[in-house]
Amino acid sequence: MSKVTVCARFRPLSSSEIRDHGTSVSIHRMDDESFNFKDEKDGDLSFSFDKVFYEDSTQASVYEVLAMPIVQDKLNNHVLIRFRCYLNRYANITDTVNGTNGTILTYGQTGAGKTYSMEGPGIIKCDDEGKGLIPRVVEGLFEMISSSHVTTTYSVKLSMVEIYMEKVRDLFDLSKDNIQIKESKSQGIVLSGVSEIPVLEAAEAIKILSNGIANRAVGETQMNVASSRSHCVYIFVLQQDLLAEKRTKMGKLILVDLAGSEKVGKTGAEGKLLEEAKTINKSLSALGNVVNALTCSPQSKSTHIPYRDSKLTRILQDALGGSCRMALLCCCSPSPSNASETLSTLRFGARAQHIKAIPCVRTQEPT
Ligand code: ADP
Repeated sequence: MSKVTVCARFRPLSSSEIRDHGTSVSIHRMDDESFNFKDEKDGDLSFSFDKVFYEDSTQASVYEVLAMPIVQDKLNNHVLIRFRCYLNRYANITDTVNGTNGTILTYGQTGAGKTYSMEGPGIIKCDDEGKGLIPRVVEGLFEMISSSHVTTTYSVKLSMVEIYMEKVRDLFDLSKDNIQIKESKSQGIVLSGVSEIPVLEAAEAIKILSNGIANRAVGETQMNVASSRSHCVYIFVLQQDLLAEKRTKMGKLILVDLAGSEKVGKTGAEGKLLEEAKTINKSLSALGNVVNALTCSPQSKSTHIPYRDSKLTRILQDALGGSCRMALLCCCSPSPSNASETLSTLRFGARAQHIKAIPCVRTQEPT
């Protein structure tokens, strides 16, 4: 069954917010799940989420609520989505079973804390407390793998891409700057020719991901792009060989640090900035439309999920909805000066809470 976890996170006020607007905040904390939001136009609005992380929240608590259940699900689930015949000469595996896929998204305006939550203040050079979701997910995966049953072997492969102006760029190989997205019956959504790096341990995975982050900065300088204007997608493919059952189980975990959701187009942006803004707004609205379609009744046969409307939603096609698990972190500034962007982020989160469990319509290939 599909399970969606939606949380809101408020970062501490920044020094410029305090300088310009003092210490007043637009939210009034109720409890760990709900708060009141002061809106100039609509007055007091109340919001409830699975969990609200206030400015004193820890990175560990964000991981525990948003990502840990998905990481554990990756290794423990027995949800069989799709069968296909697969011959593994070495392990004598005869059957491949797709396990559930998972997606974790950070959404919000630029400067709201998406990258801080995803990576931490720095993916490598940061103390244990500061570590964001990515290093914690990596450590969680390998910890569970090392404590798993001897009759199961695991392999983990990493890919990392950036979506900018509707082009998908390989962050492990910058020469691959226009990766095509294909759909295969046996593998689901595939990024054609993307680098897939096998990793054996957590430290190695974190080093490789940090190279991807550094490459992102290089590419952005070359193109004169700010990272907040592109979506950064981390893909973990986990293969489980269940030796006794002669089966292989595949699962995918995708984490996305989304581009800033602010409405740049309305603030007099011109030229390239305006084009970027339009493309970002289009892909984030495509994500919103997919979320809306997924909130429709599962009984409604006519529900069309418009995954094909953007590269972002297409990449997420087999990791959003259906039997997948999804977690959304709505990152917000607490300052009244950002109230309208915060409100729009909170409304996006409130909509995503209504995503229903839709049985995946998957082809079952003959074994
Ligand atoms: P975004 O990725 O949404 O553009 P960032 O993650 O870069 O935003 O955060 C903007 C600034 O706020 C950074 O300096 C970051 O270190 C700081 N920040 C964000 N969230 C937190 C938090 N929860 N605690 C402390 N500082 C934070």
